[in-house]
Amino acid sequence: MGKWDVHQYPVELIKRVRIVRRADGYYVQFCVKVDSQQDAPITTSEIGIDVGLEYFYSDSNGNHEENPRYLRKSEKDIKRVQRKIYKKKKGASGRRKARGVYARKHLKVTRQRNEHAKRIARNLCLANAKVVLEDLNISGLVRNHKLAKSISDASWYNFRQWLEYFGEKFGREIIALPSHFTSQECSRCGARVYKSLSTRTHSCSHCGHIEQRDVNAAKVILSRVNARGGHPQSNASRDVPSTFVGRKFSKSKERQ
Ligand SMILES: [Zn+2]
Repeated sequence: MGKWDVHQYPVELIKRVRIVRRADGYYVQFCVKVDSQQDAPITTSEIGIDVGLEYFYSDSNGNHEENPRYLRKSEKDIKRVQRKIYKKKKGASGRRKARGVYARKHLKVTRQRNEHAKRIARNLCLANAKVVLEDLNISGLVRNHKLAKSISDASWYNFRQWLEYFGEKFGREIIALPSHFTSQECSRCGARVYKSLSTRTHSCSHCGHIEQRDVNAAKVILSRVNARGGHPQSNASRDVPSTFVGRKFSKSKERQ
């Protein structure tokens, strides 16, 4: 993925070519059919992961994957540039320019996020035979106009695509689970423990279990899939786009 030398593939394997316009120019995208299976270490490890706004994700082993500092920095920068657009007069050339600056910065962050998501997803798939995550409500995602939220949703969506990609590549099971009350359930005794989004610690009044909120949720996610079974994500197509950068969300395609 990323930059591939197209010349190494026979012409029959190039299935689709498209020209994509990005904020910093035009790109030619080749879809190449390749056998992507690869050997990965033998393991029986299973992991549940929960996405929150605080961390990139938290897992059932109690680890938190931080949002990298450089991304937080560029996202702040994006917001600043975005505000600039609205300060300029409508139709003025200054506004168009500001829009261009915003679009290029946005693209840069999208690319950084993509590289980050790819690396994290690859590591997770190398270390685990089964990765369980929450299903994301894509229709909610498309309708969301709040920047911070939409950035985190978009990167989560991108991350999930990479998980499915590496899951296929390494022969791992990637399971998306409907996210009903995963954050409200006790991972030890199963009791409902209601909490608002600002409550960061799960504290069970039934069994006394205390745990960081997202880690508790990640454990619930993993235990649910083992108890009832989830929906395995099929990676139906082995087409490997030469670049995954800034892929548009397709509402119909991604809904299960
Ligand atoms: Zn409990």
